[in-house]
Amino acid sequence: MADPDLVRCDACPVTCYIKPGRAGACDRYANEDGKLVRVDPLVVLEHTIEAGEKVVPFLGRNTEWNGEIVKSPSTFVTAIGAGTTYPDYKPAPFIVSSKVDGVDTVTVVTEGIFSYCGVKVKIDTDRHLGPERNLVRVEGEPVGHVTTGEYGSQMLSLGGVNHLTHGGKKEGRVTCDALLRLCNGEAVEMVVDEGATAIIQAGKPPIINGKMEERMRVGCGSATIGMFAKQWYGKVDEVVVVDDHITGVLSEHQAGKVLGAEDTGIKIRGRKSTPGRYFHVAEPGFGWGGTNVMDPLEIVTGFDPKHAKPGLRMLMVSTTGEQHAYYELDENLRPVEKELPANLRESVDRIAENCEPALSTVLFMAGAGGSLRAGVTENPVRLTRSVRQAITRVTAGGAPVYVWPGGGITYMVDVTLLPERAFGYVPTPALVAPIEFTLKLEDYAALGGHVDHVRPVDEVLKDSALRQVRAASKGAA
Ligand code: SF4
Repeated sequence: MADPDLVRCDACPVTCYIKPGRAGACDRYANEDGKLVRVDPLVVLEHTIEAGEKVVPFLGRNTEWNGEIVKSPSTFVTAIGAGTTYPDYKPAPFIVSSKVDGVDTVTVVTEGIFSYCGVKVKIDTDRHLGPERNLVRVEGEPVGHVTTGEYGSQMLSLGGVNHLTHGGKKEGRVTCDALLRLCNGEAVEMVVDEGATAIIQAGKPPIINGKMEERMRVGCGSATIGMFAKQWYGKVDEVVVVDDHITGVLSEHQAGKVLGAEDTGIKIRGRKSTPGRYFHVAEPGFGWGGTNVMDPLEIVTGFDPKHAKPGLRMLMVSTTGEQHAYYELDENLRPVEKELPANLRESVDRIAENCEPALSTVLFMAGAGGSLRAGVTENPVRLTRSVRQAITRVTAGGAPVYVWPGGGITYMVDVTLLPERAFGYVPTPALVAPIEFTLKLEDYAALGGHVDHVRPVDEVLKDSALRQVRAASKGAA
């Protein structure tokens, strides 16, 4: 190295040479008086609790230990601020031992560098964000796509190794930055090709085309009929719950039939699936029930005079109750809009009342099954098996994760359960996320763990090199 004042950081493949008093490219490491230091303090969850702040009940601490999986230590050193070892064959930065109910346990703590990572975003809305498979862009760069819709929610799949590594340099950088901000709870504006502009922030209502979403639908049109049929029966002759996916029609629906609803002769656009359930009554959009329909009568093609009669009463309502209209048939069996009768108002309000608040949910998903395992054990596949057998418990910043079945250690975690600013990045580009593996000491030895590097938790906490212990969390209890 030419300049002796420079400190070389080898915590990731970038290998920055850092000037005195400055930080490296990722702002995670700095040159402090000629020493390489991790900028963010190590987060210890016990201290978070002592500080009176809210954290999630991590590791199932409140449940009885069933003997199959290691219980949480009372002082839990998370990987947030722990740093990374690179290349991975070096032992993880902290391998911490403590006693849990008299049993020696070990927590292996590292900030993983994930090139294979992304987020799954669930957006509680009926509004059409864009066609499935269409690209989602941030700053004009493709960062992901619209994936299959779920019940009351639109889903996005963002990030992933292809956007991080296969696109242009800017695509990788913008993708990494968008993922980092989403994971750290910041708002990110994104645009779907041929679709909407959305501002997404984990745990907050989505803002779609400038409008904040308030309600998540009570159910599909058919489910809404099922839930409220009794409250409508006798007060109105027909109810149509307009839904982009499954529009419900009371008089034909099983719920209406069981109650004794009579045929109204209504004819609905779209494809009849089963009685009282219609698919594809319109195109997706920003109108009623996630359709492009602004006037609900567009989906009613007429009434059969064999069953319909003048004066027939009909309520049309969306799946959130946000839109509703009441009609009576005139002499020519044409619906004429009238004021909503008071005895139907309650049912419309009840639909709205049963809607949950619309939120955006961000799940971080990454693969820890690669070389990261070598920081835990010299025989990486044993760690994977041990996780699979529930001998080793995986957490992210102390938050519980879901580990996918199958090969590797591919996990997902709700980013709102992690302490604040738990995620970082390196400019390779890749995300840095905390990951901890907790298991019994004897099991750790059996899987070929780096037992020579195990340090008691008290020693770790006293180590002045660790800088201050931060007591901060944004986790919901
Ligand atoms: S990007 Fe960060 S972790 Fe990587 S070498 Fe530079 S300072 Fe170290």
